[in-house]
This record gives sequence, structure tokens and C-alpha cells, in this order.
Amino acid sequence: MEWFVEKHNGTGFMVKIDKKIFEEEGLQKIEIFSTSLGKMLVIDGKIQFTEADEKFYHEMLVHVPMIMHPNPEKVLIIGGGDGGAAREAIKHKPREIKMVEIDEKVVEACKKYIGIDENALDRIEIIYEDGIEFVKKCEEKFDVIIVDGSDPDAVSKPLISREFYHNCSNIGEIFVTQSQSPFLQKDYFEKILKNSSSFPYRKIYLSHIPSYPSGMWSFLLASNSKLEMDKKELLKRYKNRKIKTMHYNVDLHMASFCLPNWLIEIVKKYVK
Ligand code: SAM
Repeated sequence: MEWFVEKHNGTGFMVKIDKKIFEEEGLQKIEIFSTSLGKMLVIDGKIQFTEADEKFYHEMLVHVPMIMHPNPEKVLIIGGGDGGAAREAIKHKPREIKMVEIDEKVVEACKKYIGIDENALDRIEIIYEDGIEFVKKCEEKFDVIIVDGSDPDAVSKPLISREFYHNCSNIGEIFVTQSQSPFLQKDYFEKILKNSSSFPYRKIYLSHIPSYPSGMWSFLLASNSKLEMDKKELLKRYKNRKIKTMHYNVDLHMASFCLPNWLIEIVKKYVK
């Protein structure tokens, strides 16, 4: 029996491998496995998603910021080559979705061997470019910016830089990025909070993603204007937009912003 093991700070997550479906090494090492949790995408040795729990992640990453916007017409996704974020964003029927992905091979492999995008990747505009460079020169404005990058190593590293967040705050109204595990990846988490101070309003929310380090996953929601969360209004938008979700609902949305004391203390160091 073969196991894939991803290690983080003295811990590990194990998943049983049936077989390797795909492997290619270019800008990044891309591997796709068939596992006990369905198909699994691995980039540079790190699990990007498993079919069994990808909706936990993509629905929380996308619907929280999208529903907070009264009318999200223009959406920018940075990263997200597997198409899970695009699939969820489409449900809000925006006028335009642009996705800026650094590695065309991720998109090709995910479309051919997995298909979680449910053809979303054929229905949006994809720009193959480094997200850092794109936001540096971008003159367009977006209602929602969604950053769906991998662990901040190698090509993803600048996606948690001060310069990147600053440029996003100039072009986006509501911004979201996955912000790693505050339990096992505290250094990354604090760096994200430290570097994103150009947004005057910021909140952290949590979701349980079993195949990510420790399962305790965080997201940074940020904006130049106050992040209002009126449950009645959010419910109205969810209903009016006729969004069908497997994991996300408005109760979960509200609850995901309730943080444990130890995490409130960390966030307070950076968000006043
Ligand atoms: N949810 C996943 C996770 O947390 O592990 C991330 C999934 S998605 C596959 C990550 C994507 O970000 C990859 O396709 C990668 O090529 C892309 N990416 C990494 N750095 C990037 C950059 N600087 N600009 C644009 N895309 C980038």
C-alpha cells in the first residue's frame, strides 16, 4: 500500500494512493494522483486539493467575498489554475471574470485529468502571467479580487508581499486570499497580516479543510470600505442569486468570523 505524506512543522497528513495519473516538471512540479479522497492535485510536493474536500475550500474562498458585495460584476482571480474558484464565482453571474495564472500547465492538466472546474475554465478570460506583474500595471478596477495561490514558496511567495497587497488595494473593492493555517503555519499567517495593512478594513475567517495542514484553515477578507455583515441582507442575496452550494451557507458565513481567543490575540497585533 502506498501513502502520500505531506509534512508540516513536525506533523504530517497521509492519504492512500491508488495510482499516479500524471506528472510533469516545468515551472512547477505538477502531479495528479488517484487517492482514497478522490483525485488529488499536488504542486511542488504540496497538496492543492482533493476531490473529497475541495468544495469546503473553494466555496468558502469565493462565496464569502462575493456575497458581501451587493453586485459583483467584475471579478479577478489570481492563481486558481484548477478552476474551482472560477466554478464558484460563475454562480454569482458576474459580467466578467479574469483569471491570472502563472502556469498554463496546471490549467491544461486539471482540465484533462480532473475537471473540477465543470467547464468554468472555458467560460472565463485566462491570462497566463505572474499575478504580481499583472496587478502592478493593471488600470482596471474589480469588484472582487480572489487570490487562490499555493503555499507561499517559489512562484507563490510574492503573493503575500506588501507590494502585491498594496497594488490589489488600488484596484479592488473587496479582496480575499487564503491565509494558510494559523496553527501550523503561524509565520506565513502573521506575515500575511503584517503585509496587508494597506487595506484599512480587514477580517479573518476560518474553515475546516481536512486535507490542508492541521485542517484549520484561514482566509483574509479585506477592503477599503467597512466590511458590513447584515445576516438578513446576506440571506437575501444568497436567495436572489439562486446559488447552489454543497458546503457554504449564510449561517456558516457568519460563524466563520468567530475566532478563538488565542487567534484573536494574534490578529489584534496587526489589525486595530
Ligand atoms: N487552494 C490551493 C492551495 O491552497 O494549495 C491553491 C490551488 S491553485 C492550484 C494555486 C495556483 O496558483 C497554481 O495553479 C499556481 O500555478 C498559481 N500561482 C502560483 N503563484 C502564482 C503567481 N505568482 N501568479 C499567478 N498564479 C500563481
